[in-house]
Amino acid sequence: MVPQTRHGRACSRVSCRTVATMTLTYIYADSTAVLGPLATFAEPHSYDLCDKHSARLTVPNGWEVIRHVAETDAAGPSDDDLMAIADAVREAATAHLQPSQSGVAQVAHSSVGRRGHLRAVPS
Ligand SMILES: [Zn+2]
Repeated sequence: MVPQTRHGRACSRVSCRTVATMTLTYIYADSTAVLGPLATFAEPHSYDLCDKHSARLTVPNGWEVIRHVAETDAAGPSDDDLMAIADAVREAATAHLQPSQSGVAQVAHSSVGRRGHLRAVPS
């Protein structure tokens, strides 16, 4: 019988009874081991691991490990997004302070244009 705990599944390592926090999935075709947030369902070729064992994960020679960090905030922009917007705004403000030499101004404008998707909306 699969060990069960009150909070979920236990680590799949032999003789470890710690609650699993990560799920390791082997993708044999790509020689890749993917370590991500605990899966909702147990799948073939996947193993639940506790913090300790996911940190100590080793894979066969030639294999690659991909570690996914859990999404903590899927609703709003992340700190990185906000920083990127702040940077874009700062860059745009700096561009306006450039001396009005036509060459310099054009370079600054095209730089801002490429970051158009980061344009901030005034509140
Ligand atoms: Zn463990």
